[in-house]
Amino acid sequence: MDDVYQLEIPTPFDVGRVNCYGFTQGGLTLIDPGPSTEQAYEELSAGLEAHGSTVADVDRILITHPHMDHFGLASRIVDESGARTVAHRDATKILTDPVAHFEQEQTFFRPFLQAMGVPEQTAQTAVGLPEAYTDYQEALAIDRELSDGDSIDIGVDLQTVPTPGHAPGSVCFIRETDAVAFTGDHVLADISPNPLLTLAPGTEDERTRSLPTYLDSLNRIRETPAEIGHAGHGPVISDLDSRVQEIIDHHQQRKERIANLIEEMGSPTAYDIMQEMFPDLPATETFPGMSEVIGHLDLLEDEDRVDIRERDGVRKYTID
Ligand SMILES: [Zn+2]
Ligand SMILES: [Zn+2]
Repeated sequence: MDDVYQLEIPTPFDVGRVNCYGFTQGGLTLIDPGPSTEQAYEELSAGLEAHGSTVADVDRILITHPHMDHFGLASRIVDESGARTVAHRDATKILTDPVAHFEQEQTFFRPFLQAMGVPEQTAQTAVGLPEAYTDYQEALAIDRELSDGDSIDIGVDLQTVPTPGHAPGSVCFIRETDAVAFTGDHVLADISPNPLLTLAPGTEDERTRSLPTYLDSLNRIRETPAEIGHAGHGPVISDLDSRVQEIIDHHQQRKERIANLIEEMGSPTAYDIMQEMFPDLPATETFPGMSEVIGHLDLLEDEDRVDIRERDGVRKYTID
């Protein structure tokens, strides 16, 4: 990868640094510049300078998915460089107005979580984020919206593979010449990406079925010629296929564990299952925890293995 370099940009989040990739063929292209913080900006500038460029030289910014640790800083770079921005069309609405999207999510998910058994106060905390979160991202206008299967010429052809699941509008960029994939958070070396529940693209009253969608997307990346993964966080994935298989196996096991729990517990709510699986989870972690459990319940539902009954507005699961 002589013509690509990696900059590890700091984030204020638990995940640690985010990987930004710089391509120098055909102008300067960045994948995922990082969050909107002063420290991220300074380290990005210093990193670019070490490679003989400045922020003003950036020609294009590619966004793998609409999470603020990846795209938050892009708007400031566009202001200084006039760079063109590229993202999947399903990510555009979130990128162009992340705060409105967040507020729509709060409106939808607060009652949804309650219907899944979460107590009212916990549901309230679960959909809230510290105010400061809105400081780490700035709205980003997208110049080119990618559709499934598009390729982009950045001096070398990058093939776009749509990989929704971890986030709507997630894409991997594949460089076929050396079988390399830039995977964003779709596949990571050390972490099993959380298929977070969110609003389905273009809707305000329908959630994604994130985990079934995510597993489909894992199979999709396996069908590409990519062998090596450069991820949004952490080290390089030297064997992309076997890492994908590991993640699939992990979800398979967890799904069976949840099926067993439902059987043992009788007719639990999703929240009952989450508490059994992750006791003492802080209320602020309820949303990712519930996303994980509901994702597996969706898989069991797709396999016709569970019955869902709603009583007094609360959904309970039993094994069929
Ligand atoms: Zn992410
Ligand atoms: Zn991330």
